[in-house]
Amino acid sequence: MSHAYDPERLASPSCPLPAGSDRVTLSHGAGAGASARLFDELLWPRLGSELLGARHDGAVLPVDRGRLAFTTDTFVVSPLFFPGGDIGRLAVHGTLNDLAMCGARPLALSCGLVLEEGLPLATLERIADSLGQAARAAGVPFATGDTKVVERGKGDGLFVNTAGIGAVPDGRDLRPARVQPGDAILVSGSLGCHGAAVLSVREDLGFESEIVSDTENLTGLVEDLLEAVPGAHCLRDPTRGGVGAALHEIAAVAGLEIGLDEAAVPVDEPVAAACELLGLDPLFLACEGRALVFVAESEATRALAALRAHPLGRGAVRLGQVAAGSARVVMQTRMGTRRLLPLPAGEPLPRIC
Ligand code: MG
Repeated sequence: MSHAYDPERLASPSCPLPAGSDRVTLSHGAGAGASARLFDELLWPRLGSELLGARHDGAVLPVDRGRLAFTTDTFVVSPLFFPGGDIGRLAVHGTLNDLAMCGARPLALSCGLVLEEGLPLATLERIADSLGQAARAAGVPFATGDTKVVERGKGDGLFVNTAGIGAVPDGRDLRPARVQPGDAILVSGSLGCHGAAVLSVREDLGFESEIVSDTENLTGLVEDLLEAVPGAHCLRDPTRGGVGAALHEIAAVAGLEIGLDEAAVPVDEPVAAACELLGLDPLFLACEGRALVFVAESEATRALAALRAHPLGRGAVRLGQVAAGSARVVMQTRMGTRRLLPLPAGEPLPRIC
């Protein structure tokens, strides 16, 4: 970026976006003129930070000794707005949660926007507001970003990429390979709310008032959990593919059998009703504010209490247990039988996040 940062000009813009240009145009991606004004007048007031204000090719951050966690995610959810959130809030929470699952405390975010020509600027304003609010609520700055415009018909309104870095305190080592036979498996709340909320508006199911996305920042919940149980083995946010896909991934990496208790699977009534209507299994619906927790059996009670003591973990339950054996997920059914939980072939729910 070649434009000097001038806070006074930003505080009282003297050259507003021209009247009538209420949509994104290709000139907004040209790198000068309208592009600079889009940044100065629309994005900067919402996403600005001291680091972003340096207007350099990249952000330069101080680092302490120790380890950094680094993650990125691209968001293509359709529709852009859904009950309980929008693509901006989802992007910030998704990235903060991936850092939290590494045991990291977030330091900075990036934001890449791909805009389709014709996108109403009012829509971009709402999403930038949402990105900014979610980041400010977490106390994490956007340190760097980028905006590109693609021709009409070559995008679908707006895509967002967010990356994040965080510092991992000494002593924390959370990863699938640390899962052990005998570990208890906990989940911080009910399953499938995000996936069901997006589907309910997409399919016009009429559940909009009842099903709200669970998109939340789990940083605080994870800090409380790790204070109570610093030796936890693994955390995972069951996003795309839901708890079912997350458990399959962890079983494969750990080379262990994951046992799931069907009667313990927490599903809210409206989500269960939507799933029945659409022929979906809530175990494979995306969550955006839940954590799966793997801890030694001896620490399970303490971990569950720590989760339940946090506002975002009140619905925490014990979901199952890890066993020695081959890498697979086995369901103990309500009828007392055991059956394999297969991974669905293909992607049944595109553009959920
Ligand atoms: Mg994740």
